[in-house]
Amino acid sequence: MNNNGKLLVGIKKDSIAYMAGMFDNSMVLQVQQANDIIDVIGEHVSLKKKGREMVGLCPFHDDHRPSMNVNPVKQIFKCFACGAGGDVFKFIQMRENLTFPQAIERLAERAGIKLERRQMPRRPRSGAEAGQTEHVEDIDPNRLAKANVWAAQYFQRNLRDTKLGKYARDYLAERQISPESIEKWQLGLAIDSPDGLVRESKANKSVLKLLEQAGLLVGHNQDKFVNRLMFTITDVTGRVIGFGGRTLDDNGAKYLNSPTTVLFDKSNSLYGLEQARHEIVSTGTAVVVEGYTDCIMAHQFGCGNVVAALGTSFTAGHGRILKRYARKVILIFDSDVAGIEAANRALDVCLAQRIDIKLATVPEGKDPCDFLLASGKEAFEQLIADAVDVFQFKWDRLREKFASEDTLAGKNSAIDEYLQAIATSMQSGKIHDIDLGIRVKQISKIIGLDDRQINAELNKRLKRLQRASSNENRGENVPLVDYGQGSFAGAQRDVLEVLLNEPKLYETVKQKITKDMFDVPILGQVAAILFETLDGDINAPLKEILARAESVELGNCIMELAAAGQKKGNFESILAGALVAIEQHRIEKEKLEIGALQDQTEYLRRWHNITSKRNSRVVPME
Ligand SMILES: [Zn+2]
Repeated sequence: MNNNGKLLVGIKKDSIAYMAGMFDNSMVLQVQQANDIIDVIGEHVSLKKKGREMVGLCPFHDDHRPSMNVNPVKQIFKCFACGAGGDVFKFIQMRENLTFPQAIERLAERAGIKLERRQMPRRPRSGAEAGQTEHVEDIDPNRLAKANVWAAQYFQRNLRDTKLGKYARDYLAERQISPESIEKWQLGLAIDSPDGLVRESKANKSVLKLLEQAGLLVGHNQDKFVNRLMFTITDVTGRVIGFGGRTLDDNGAKYLNSPTTVLFDKSNSLYGLEQARHEIVSTGTAVVVEGYTDCIMAHQFGCGNVVAALGTSFTAGHGRILKRYARKVILIFDSDVAGIEAANRALDVCLAQRIDIKLATVPEGKDPCDFLLASGKEAFEQLIADAVDVFQFKWDRLREKFASEDTLAGKNSAIDEYLQAIATSMQSGKIHDIDLGIRVKQISKIIGLDDRQINAELNKRLKRLQRASSNENRGENVPLVDYGQGSFAGAQRDVLEVLLNEPKLYETVKQKITKDMFDVPILGQVAAILFETLDGDINAPLKEILARAESVELGNCIMELAAAGQKKGNFESILAGALVAIEQHRIEKEKLEIGALQDQTEYLRRWHNITSKRNSRVVPME
């Protein structure tokens, strides 16, 4: 998912300094100040109060207990399981896969702060200027989001237009979607013209380019969406990430989505999450429907915890997203057939996420939108209350299937499916021993194998699943940091661990150490940031030091060093010991260099220098 840390590991110091200089440090701190970390993280993770901190499920690893602590006073977060940590910028960088400058822009926008870039030479952009397609990673998601907003406003203007939008408004009225819902959901209209959007943007070349990158054009001069009702898709923070379009003349596919972009990936996006998030958190339950109008209608009827999968089946990505907000997920399907297929996928992908999944089907082949209109809110809520656990659902259907299968092959495939379902539930820890025993007994009765054989088969499948999942989780998100080996590297760490906790001690050491003494690369980067910050303000809090860290890796590293230092305490004596070790290392190094010198007198002269320097420089710190 997130590669920022990994990508930046190899980056040179110069380029870090360059990027940091894009915005003035005081500007960066102003943006940090204006975005309370509790609010920002709360938009992604459900947080609960615990003592003086807030805790929640860490979104950067497969978290089962709340491992992520957020400190409202210090304005920092730290996951004690996977080591992810930092300030509000680092959270957004990791969460939304943004670079540091992008995260600054993103949060400035969130807080309504207008950013001023320093006048700096722009990085040459090879492909774009030559008119080639830019590589997806070169595209700035924030600019793409702005182009989407521009397009969304154009679509909305069309729908509101007395003449142009009348037929689409009539269609919406017929479907009983209220004018309030039309506004709330930013519904729009792509007019019946092959180049409406292109013509609208003609005056503005850069918009046209961005619209192309956002997937709203086909080629350079054709609209992707023609004569369609437009659904604006936002992410959880309200950023416009893409569109869905429903045909109004039955030309082409009934529904069409924006293509995958750096902003939009339909298997990792849910329609309505922004609107439903609070209700999902407060009820602990997320209800997932299939269509845009199902979702809109549910909200119109006051069922505020409903979201829609974007014309795809419910994916592992959806499960991961909802797990941040909900303990329970209920999938609602139009028909039993769709439900059975969904049950299979839900079992495979979502139980691995360890969330409770229940399934419900709308009776008589209606979609939830029609059902709500015909039967009302209470009936819909009853449907949700009656949802069946995904295992029970699967078991019921399989028993029916097994009974109705005439061939041996058919029976075998039914059994195979069910064994796989049990193995998945074992792997996700969703099935109790007693439950498992009962299932095995039942299945042995049906197929006439004894329990031992069935258990052996289950274990074989379980091992395969475990192997697959450990491959999946390896090396995700938080990169491992190389802190170097040996006592000199240890001393460098000690200095940083102490100063991150007791910055005042910097006064006593700044004559003796410089950032260039740090030969472990990552520690050298921390030292550079730390000393620069403390030179400006000896009382600077940790968040200000973090605000200078460009990469996610560096942010994690600072948090780790700060936590380790706090745990050890004894700041002054540890610092004194570290200084002695650093000085000794310097002497050893110089001795080696001198040993290589042939000239005896030069040797003596330098030897004299070192010993006299040693006496004057090492001041024990009491
Ligand atoms: Zn974590």
